[in-house]
Amino acid sequence: MKGKEHFDAVVVGAGPAGSTAALVMARAGLRVALLERGEYPGAKNVSGAVLYGTSFLERLLPGFRLSAPVERYITRRSIGFMSESALFSLDYKSSGADAPPNNGFTLLRPQFDRWLAQRAVEAGALLVPKTVVDGLIREKGAVKGVRTRREKGELYADVVVAADGVNSFLAREAGLRGDFSLRGMSLGIKEVIALDRQLLEERFQINGNEGTAYEFLGSVTGNVCGGGFLYTNRESLSIGIIVQLSSLLRERARPYELLAGLKNHSSILPLIRGGSVKEYSAHMIPEGGWKMFPKLYAPGLLVAGDAAGMVLAAGCYLQG
Ligand SMILES: Cc1cc2nc3c(=O)[nH]c(=O)nc-3n(C[C@H](O)[C@H](O)[C@H](O)COP(=O)(O)OP(=O)(O)OC[C@H]3O[C@@H](n4cnc5c(N)ncnc54)[C@H](O)[C@@H]3O)c2cc1C
Repeated sequence: MKGKEHFDAVVVGAGPAGSTAALVMARAGLRVALLERGEYPGAKNVSGAVLYGTSFLERLLPGFRLSAPVERYITRRSIGFMSESALFSLDYKSSGADAPPNNGFTLLRPQFDRWLAQRAVEAGALLVPKTVVDGLIREKGAVKGVRTRREKGELYADVVVAADGVNSFLAREAGLRGDFSLRGMSLGIKEVIALDRQLLEERFQINGNEGTAYEFLGSVTGNVCGGGFLYTNRESLSIGIIVQLSSLLRERARPYELLAGLKNHSSILPLIRGGSVKEYSAHMIPEGGWKMFPKLYAPGLLVAGDAAGMVLAAGCYLQG
């Protein structure tokens, strides 16, 4: 490989899947490049988000709570059944859940993904942002590296990890998958609404690090299969809907109208009133589960995360 840039592993995509893969491999002493098209990891990534895998994160990064950009620890969860004018909720509150081992916590992707990628860098991975991977380099049927949209942008590696998200062009190029079926795909749209911290804590009856996760079913998505969510961050709220794509098309519904309906519901409006929208985003979610998994490897290539459809869609909430 003389004269060529060669790594033990090239990871494409610095979302949670890619940064975790890079971290684990770098720790094992491998020479790893982590390529990310965004200006920085998480710049445009979308989640609700509550991360429920705190025990996994603790195993991966002991003491993560000291440095992770946690917004709020979930101490109260509620599932709300909505009609157009009413809301019936099942509510669970635990006063100890803001202390370890936590239930889960809310996060904002631009901060969280950046933090996680930085842990991979500390372990020895080379993070290369602002770098779009355009395709695979293949020799004799095996993947040998990637082509990036940079001058002399060919990188060679013993293994390429495609953690490039739900649309994974790399997994498709390798022939491991085609388009995911419409039935297994959902569309999530979300707003982050800035709200004064004191006002937020009064409205949601929380203090300090405590946080709430509300999920909604019923009229929130009309006749479309799906649901809504409202999560508290430190000084903002994340509100959104997630709808099954096939159902959305069948009903000819407009997702932004469904989100507007949730925001204007008589039980929700008083919680978000006075806030200002800071962010609006939309993203596809592979919710088909086990049946959706493509073949996860080819010679020289592994597929991980959303690229492989690895989302646990547990009814009301998601674990990506
Ligand atoms: C509205 C919504 C709410 C959600 N809520 C939750 C939740 O509450 N909890 C939860 O656990 N999960 C949630 N999810 C799911 C979760 O967001 C995903 O499962 C998770 O982000 C997948 O991580 P990933 O690393 O596989 O992919 P991604 O996070 O999509 O990361 C892929 C990365 O690859 C980069 N990339 C893509 N193509 C290229 C390329 N060609 N070259 C270089 N870089 C590239 C992207 O920029 C990105 O950084 C939600 C999703 C949505 C849309």
